Amino acid sequence: MQVLWAPWRMAYVADKAARGCIFCIALEGDRRERLLLGTTAASLVILNRFPYQNGHLMVAPRRHTASLTALPEAEHRDLAETLRRSIDTVAATFHPDGFNLGMNLGAAAGAGVVDHLHWHIVPRWAAPRATRRPRRPPEAAGARGSCGLVAAAPPARRRARRAHAGRNGVLQRRETAALARLGESCGSGCSGTSEERGARPAAREHRTRARKEGRPTPRGVERADGVRGHRSSAARGSAAREQRTGPRDFWLFLLERGAYNRRTTRGMGAVVQGSETARTLGELKASGYRVVPVREEMRRNLLARLGRKERILPGIIGYDDTVIPDIENAVLAGHHMVFLGERGQAKSRIIRGLTSLLDPAVPAVEGCPINDSPFDPICRTCRRRLTLEGDTLPIAWIGPDDRYGEKLATPDVSMADLIGEIDPVKVAEGRYLADEETIHYGLVPRTNRGLFAINELPDLTEKVQVGLFNLMEEKDVQIKGYKIRLPLDIIIVASANPEDYTSRGRIITPLKDRFDVQIRTHYPHTLDDEITIMEQETPVLDRGVREVRVPFFIKEIVAQITFEARGSNEINQASGVSVRVTINNYESLLSNAEKRAVRTTEREIVPRITDLPSVLASTAGKIELEYVGEDKKDGDLIDRLINRAILKVWDKYLKVEALKKVTDHFEAGWGVEVSDEMPSHEYLEGIRHIPGLREGVGLLGAFETPALMATATEFVLEGLHLHQKLNKDRSGGRYAYRA
Ligand SMILES: [Zn+2]
Ligand SMILES: [Zn+2]
Repeated sequence: MQVLWAPWRMAYVADKAARGCIFCIALEGDRRERLLLGTTAASLVILNRFPYQNGHLMVAPRRHTASLTALPEAEHRDLAETLRRSIDTVAATFHPDGFNLGMNLGAAAGAGVVDHLHWHIVPRWAAPRATRRPRRPPEAAGARGSCGLVAAAPPARRRARRAHAGRNGVLQRRETAALARLGESCGSGCSGTSEERGARPAAREHRTRARKEGRPTPRGVERADGVRGHRSSAARGSAAREQRTGPRDFWLFLLERGAYNRRTTRGMGAVVQGSETARTLGELKASGYRVVPVREEMRRNLLARLGRKERILPGIIGYDDTVIPDIENAVLAGHHMVFLGERGQAKSRIIRGLTSLLDPAVPAVEGCPINDSPFDPICRTCRRRLTLEGDTLPIAWIGPDDRYGEKLATPDVSMADLIGEIDPVKVAEGRYLADEETIHYGLVPRTNRGLFAINELPDLTEKVQVGLFNLMEEKDVQIKGYKIRLPLDIIIVASANPEDYTSRGRIITPLKDRFDVQIRTHYPHTLDDEITIMEQETPVLDRGVREVRVPFFIKEIVAQITFEARGSNEINQASGVSVRVTINNYESLLSNAEKRAVRTTEREIVPRITDLPSVLASTAGKIELEYVGEDKKDGDLIDRLINRAILKVWDKYLKVEALKKVTDHFEAGWGVEVSDEMPSHEYLEGIRHIPGLREGVGLLGAFETPALMATATEFVLEGLHLHQKLNKDRSGGRYAYRA
């Protein structure tokens, strides 16, 4: 077993005296603020604000009492049942390998809150072998945390803790965070320290394992923090680490990352809101729950987010001042939206991200294919059941996944796919039209009370466009000549290429009018944003013992190649140059560098200028040339884009005049050979023979390893070549720079 060490709890230990009873306070005021997950007749479930682990819950009776034996029989039973259900929920949500359950009665037993009894539920994960922490030193044994469940701070940490706490009695936030980082939990439950988790490969192995087991991974947390493009990845990392130590993790996973599936949402639904324990219409009515239209629900959730100064759409970079304000306005107004933009501008991702504005769970008639509200069902079966069953009508709590649908439009998409199909034989048998037995509902009705996304809207046939329009406008549709009333509660979000959307005849005018707002997306305005997206979206691969190190100028060149392509009049700009070009080029470059590292048995994977031709394959298929010529042409074009990109980045950091010493040495007869297969140490020869070169490389910053020196050398020389100060000859896979 791992021993839990949760240093962020020190803040709690230090200032708890100043507070009243946390359980009683939790019953008043803002649930979310108080971390209250739910209440039953006699009990409450609350998140631990200073958790030992992700998912650390506490279950307490509503009654403020310290005595377990004095609790009335009914309240005992309620407490036990709530405890059981909470364990089920955490198990379904986080898939822990085990639990610690604990109740500390009295200060001597380690109770933090002495006079209001409560259960702790602490999910636990088995440590992977490589990350198991060493045996505890004997002098640390027996040390206790504040509430008895935590034990054993190693002596060094205890000293640090004492030093911090001793200064003013209360830990500063920064210090708490620093301490927390010492014992940083990896987010999927491993609470070994960074040192003990050892080298990166071990952490990666754990991450892979966590992913395999469907647990939230630390990477997920890092992306959930919603940082902006202008912050460095280092800042992002540390922000994520700080956040990872707080109870907000739990909410981030469940509510914002969408890292839940239908099952966990349903399970969680039992705890998130008190009313969500309702299983029948009668119970729902008793809880006071009110069903609201989806626009109202999204509006309410957006206003709450804005009030908390939280970002919507975390992970979407570069739209803070342009696209996001428009989206917010559209959501507040309850508008149907159409996103216009060229390929690879995160349109689908934005649309999917809007589901984070849906409630984690809403009640629907159990078994209804179109998510009918139990108060006011529209399908015939549900209406009949409501009449027959009344308050005993069973309800199910459905999550955002059940209320989101998307379809890539093609000319093959039919009315049956999107809206529905009727069986004329059954109609002829005299069944009712609005009967599940005669209608097979399509994708749009199945996402009733939610969001439906249609990508590439202009590719829908006119007939289907008319059907869609009727559904949005008239609330009834014609299927095979039968008029069917379908008053759906749905927000339609579409995306389209701007040229297709505006070209005459592609979209029927009434449908175009039905979209209340057009939101224009765009490519990143700055190289920094492009690079941030590139780094965020490039998958972290298992590269064994080898470490990837990419110099800033290589990243800038990759992004600049895409920028050059977007500005080129030889490329069809109406279809655009996707951000995916940048991402895939970066991946190609890393792969080429990795192959070299394997062949030369070097420990570092560092892309070079000579790796750049590898982006040809990942660029060619994603750009459309304006003029179709001989097939050699797109290769030539990409070569030119690469050269222009190198030159632009080079000119930002270097000057030909500053490298006069280098060019002088070349003129004295020296030459340097480079290749994407050459071991890095061979570059050091060249640097030794041409002293000005070392200084030239120094202008770019400190490049301390042979692999980094090699790539910087190539960059300096290639720039001089592109400025026509050096010649470059090719022989086989090798290039020689000479005066
Ligand atoms: Zn109390
Ligand atoms: Zn129904």
